[in-house]
Amino acid sequence: MEKKDLDWGNLPFSYMKTDYSYVCNYKDGEWGEGFLTEDHSLQISECAGILHYCQEVFEGLKAYTTEDGRIVCFRPDLNAQRMADSAERLCMPVFPQDKFVEAVKMVVKANQAWVPPFGSGATLYVRPFMFATGDVIGVKPADEYQFRILVTPVGPYFKGGDTAVTLGIAKYDRAAPHGTGNIKAGLNYAMSLKPGMEAHANGYAENLYLDSQSRTYVEETGGANVLFVDKEGNLVVPQSFTDSILPSITRRSLVTVAKDFCDMTVIERPVKWEEVLNGDFVECGLCGTAAVISPVGHIEDGETVVTFPDGAETSGPVMKKLRSTLTGIQAGAIQGPEGWVVEIA
Ligand SMILES: *Cc1c(COP(=O)(O)O)cnc(C)c1O
Repeated sequence: MEKKDLDWGNLPFSYMKTDYSYVCNYKDGEWGEGFLTEDHSLQISECAGILHYCQEVFEGLKAYTTEDGRIVCFRPDLNAQRMADSAERLCMPVFPQDKFVEAVKMVVKANQAWVPPFGSGATLYVRPFMFATGDVIGVKPADEYQFRILVTPVGPYFKGGDTAVTLGIAKYDRAAPHGTGNIKAGLNYAMSLKPGMEAHANGYAENLYLDSQSRTYVEETGGANVLFVDKEGNLVVPQSFTDSILPSITRRSLVTVAKDFCDMTVIERPVKWEEVLNGDFVECGLCGTAAVISPVGHIEDGETVVTFPDGAETSGPVMKKLRSTLTGIQAGAIQGPEGWVVEIA
């Protein structure tokens, strides 16, 4: 397979057109035949539901090359399941989960020349998304939708490599209590843009959101779940009372990796911001598809600065071990659980 002539080691995290996208339309109560297209723009009605009432959900996963040269992706069945859950919350039709995985395979295979080589640090980012194309003027769910997958080669999300970042505490919320914080939808991201811009203006890499009901518990950042290590070396994973933490596939995988591959104790429970302030944790990290785990050195709330002593400058030992084990599984160097690494070509 002839690869595209790209500077694989220096790709930005941004969009570029590839050869094909995947499209499937929903009409008259059913999904049509999916197909590949070379047309990377689309025309929709001015009255399409997406434009007025924000019926849109998305997913994100990566396709990449393993050490032995296979093109694979990681647990796409969980992206299919999560997109079904997101769609259900916004009264959108569910795209069948087996069809989702087949579509991911089809579009990645067609764009094999764009999959970065092993060791380049780059991946082919796969973005399935679905939106209302049917006309709505009264407030109700649309009756026509498009499911689409675009793929684009990307470099690392955080440019600083393993340099630990500083988070701020978000001044306002990205989702209402018992709202939509646990679904992957553009509307949550729209709500996070303003607090995110303010965080950047104040010198923070990201915001840490507290629960919007009591502002007492730690939730996650705008686009990544947060993990802590306590003084006993346990992995502490924040849980939400109000179901407003996005169920990160990386986080769920790291919980398994910690328990079954690193012999660690994992504690999934609500975590108070106060505990973080008290210095109860020695490491902190952000997890998501793009970065796997990236280290958080400090969190600042007004004048108070919390430092994570074992990972203030770069990843601490526990985060490092978790990351190398998960990336080892993803690369095929470590045999992971059945079905995690799915072969495409
Ligand atoms: C996508 C996303 C994550 C990370 O989830 P992964 O499945 O691990 O990529 C975390 N938080 C939010 C809000 C997200 O949208």
